[in-house]
Amino acid sequence: MIQLDNVSKQYKTANGSLTAVDNVSLTIQDREIFGIIGYSGAGKSTMIRLLNGLEKPTSGDVLVNDVNISKARGNALRNARHHISMVFQHFNLLWSRTVAENIAFPLEIAGVKKDAREKRVKELIALVGLEGRDDAYPSQLSGGQKQRVGIARALANNPTVLLCDEATSALDPETTDAILDLLVSINEKLGLTIVLITHEMHVIRKICHRVAVMEKGKVVEQGNVLEVFQNP
Ligand code: ADP
Ligand code: ADP
Repeated sequence: MIQLDNVSKQYKTANGSLTAVDNVSLTIQDREIFGIIGYSGAGKSTMIRLLNGLEKPTSGDVLVNDVNISKARGNALRNARHHISMVFQHFNLLWSRTVAENIAFPLEIAGVKKDAREKRVKELIALVGLEGRDDAYPSQLSGGQKQRVGIARALANNPTVLLCDEATSALDPETTDAILDLLVSINEKLGLTIVLITHEMHVIRKICHRVAVMEKGKVVEQGNVLEVFQNP
């Protein structure tokens, strides 16, 4: 479970401070697909950085699987962050490495031995539907295939939470739908929690169970997707 209690984040600026996230409280249940939607500048990216522990809140608490990642330090923070993985808008692949090597990268960092790594990479490649592309380089892949690599890499170390940062915003509508279908199947098969931020209503409507709508740092509405978007 992910819980935000009265979380605010202020950035210092040249002429004072700017409140990027303003007293946000929300709970995301295990296995949920939860969307955070808002226009540019609403505070979505700051929310993602608070959830993955890259930023500390100015006030309030961020709990991930009962660990207070706003207070955790050192090993406790590293362990908590081990459960959280990211998918990026521009994929962030290593261009001089193949599909298999990109997916193996987080396993290498985690110290997984070669045999186990190769077995795991095979499983992940099958999971995201990239069979036969093991040795391709990112430049040889379509946008959708690159994002499949990004998703496989994010899943390599069995996270319990997948944070998707505008994961389909660089893709055409058809590819977007295919990637969203993949996220749903991963959510169902692996039972992990998916939090996605987007400025696209379509993405929320297609796969999210619940949604929080952000404006100027505040959550102005949250709840079941159908309920929230029925309001005039
Ligand atoms: P979104 O992802 O919804 O576009 P952000 O979280 O990126 O929103 O930004 C929210 C507000 O915080 C914006 O006004 C932005 O300019 C400001 N902001 C974001 N990051 C920083 C930072 N590191 N320093 C100062 N201001 C920032
Ligand atoms: P896109 O078309 O997805 O925007 P980019 O050229 O922006 O592709 O690169 C996507 C990601 O890959 C970026 O995070 C970038 O830093 C990284 N990247 C690009 N070229 C290389 C490279 N030669 N080696 C390693 N990483 C690279």
